[in-house]
Amino acid sequence: MSNHLKKWNPHLWPPFTQISSAIPPQRVHSGDGALLLLDRETPLIDGISSWWVTLHGHANSYISNAIAEQANQLEQVIFADFIHPQAEHLSNRLSTLTGLDRLFFSDNGSTAVEVALKIACQWWQNLNEPRYQLIAFEGAYHGDTFGAMAVGERNLFNAPFEKMLFPVSRLPWPATWWDDQEIEGRERRVLKDLEKLLETPTAAVIFESLVQGAGGMSMVRPEFLQQVEKRAKQAGALVITDEVMTGFGRCGTLFAYEQIGIQPDLVALSKGLTGGFLPMGVTMAREEIFSAFIGEEANLTFWHGHSFTGNPLGCAAANASLDLLEESPDQYKQFESRHKHYMEGLSKHSKVTKPRVKGTIAAFDMRVDGPEGYLNKAGQAIKSFAMKNGVFIRPLGNVVYLLPPLCINDSQLEQCYSVIKEGLDRL
Ligand SMILES: *Cc1c(COP(=O)(O)O)cnc(C)c1O
Repeated sequence: MSNHLKKWNPHLWPPFTQISSAIPPQRVHSGDGALLLLDRETPLIDGISSWWVTLHGHANSYISNAIAEQANQLEQVIFADFIHPQAEHLSNRLSTLTGLDRLFFSDNGSTAVEVALKIACQWWQNLNEPRYQLIAFEGAYHGDTFGAMAVGERNLFNAPFEKMLFPVSRLPWPATWWDDQEIEGRERRVLKDLEKLLETPTAAVIFESLVQGAGGMSMVRPEFLQQVEKRAKQAGALVITDEVMTGFGRCGTLFAYEQIGIQPDLVALSKGLTGGFLPMGVTMAREEIFSAFIGEEANLTFWHGHSFTGNPLGCAAANASLDLLEESPDQYKQFESRHKHYMEGLSKHSKVTKPRVKGTIAAFDMRVDGPEGYLNKAGQAIKSFAMKNGVFIRPLGNVVYLLPPLCINDSQLEQCYSVIKEGLDRL
């Protein structure tokens, strides 16, 4: 075994990592707000909310207490035969907030998407009007289970499974940025293509609301998605919004689709749902969809479930996180202006192109040599520099972005930007 491989834990298999070339992970022993505390003197500012999940900050005591209290009362119960107050409370709240009456629990973002797709497809079967076309966008990421991979962008990550993924019709994602002059033309061309596709009976159209995350913090205008929804509805197709990343204030409103001004039929939620404390996913559905699954015949039933469906600890964390969001909505509503302040300066840097900001998310592309996309080396270089200087970021190829927890204070945020600027100077 090479010296490099010996630096890795012999029993752990890390996610999304080629250990022959990646930098071995550092040991974290605790978290505090926006900070990760390691086996070294200086802590790291968590600039990406630990893969976009940590919403209010690490080890938030209001949420941890809610989980502890629930754990001492009821940790888990089979959800087919029982319900419990935390799940009832959460479903009431999310129904009111999303305008969608029914909540189906699963375990993570991929399963929340998987459930939405299965509900959409079975809905058409239950209506005796089966439809098989699904429409998704280039660059999309919807998770790593088979159905979620199928609707996501086909790339290096799912290439080994390409032949086993069901067919999906795909449209370009007309991403935009500051001072983008040609966006309306690009959008018009995509909408034309969409109209063509919708001539075939379509079960559902699925998209990430406003921002494609893993696809490179790639942002579209709300006007565009409004037109997508309009055409989908005209063709009778269901609209599924994947709010796994964008939900719970990340885009400046509680749900990003509020800014689009649409009412989706199905919404997938996870990540920030529990404040980032526990893995849980939910799929919200319109009552009309739910009612098509009720009846005497067994085949109408949605035969899907997970061992941990409706886990009380996850529900307690989610309710506590919603309390915090309701208590201080300005934290997410006003985050965009904090980013803008710094991004206006950074956008003048010669290595910065396509600057863009949405809510708590700020991103730009680095003007660098080498391949575009996930494997670009400049991202690694700037990441290493930032880590040495107290900031944890994880560029997506040549896309550098910040997506910090809401609790990050001004001096921490300023440090993130100044470290990125210095890193760019050294490229
Ligand atoms: C992360 C993500 C998923 C998958 O969620 P997991 O919890 O990682 O399975 C799905 N959709 C979007 C938009 C995501 O960002």
